[in-house]
Amino acid sequence: MNDSMKRKLVFILTAAVLVLLGGVAIYYTTMPSGCSSKRKVGNFYEIDCPTKGLKAGKNKVCGVVLHHTACMTMRQSLDALTESGKVSCHVTIDRDGTRYILASPEQITMHAGYSYHNGMTGLNRYFVGIEFQSIDTHRQPLTNEQIESAIDYLLPIIKKHHIRLDNIVTHEQVRTAWLKRHPDRTDIPAKVDISQADYQRFMAALRKRMGR
Ligand SMILES: [Zn+2]
Repeated sequence: MNDSMKRKLVFILTAAVLVLLGGVAIYYTTMPSGCSSKRKVGNFYEIDCPTKGLKAGKNKVCGVVLHHTACMTMRQSLDALTESGKVSCHVTIDRDGTRYILASPEQITMHAGYSYHNGMTGLNRYFVGIEFQSIDTHRQPLTNEQIESAIDYLLPIIKKHHIRLDNIVTHEQVRTAWLKRHPDRTDIPAKVDISQADYQRFMAALRKRMGR
């Protein structure tokens, strides 16, 4: 191979790597094609990203389950929650407080799975699901923006549906409660979202905003 061929080869390889890296960068910084452009609502941005993960029927909207996404990036979280048809939620909140609206509160999404709370089993039919972008709230706590944005989203829903504060719970709480009632189901893994520390922060901020 002569020098000119070598140079051409290096050029082609460099170009290929750049195109690949560019593609990866575009993937992680753009949203799924079904999402709307963002609009400012109060202090935060909101984007509609309708989910394919809906169940027939009407949500009773008598509580809220808090989750962390456990995904590295927002794009990965949105792909799972809007496209998979296996998991979904009502709103996903990015680290800067941007809210991705996946469904209306009255729709039934798939976030709670095996769950029990205050006499209700299978909370997908009863509770709204909020996912916070975090690989793991035990290692990557919620940002203050995430907490305030979630409260902005929730306050009108709490008011409209008269949601009791003891019906605002973590995924871990409702999964653990279900497992306690089904000790034979050792095949169902426990959940660790949201951390108790972040749950306490969230509830304290919510009570403060509600003046309670
Ligand atoms: Zn969860």
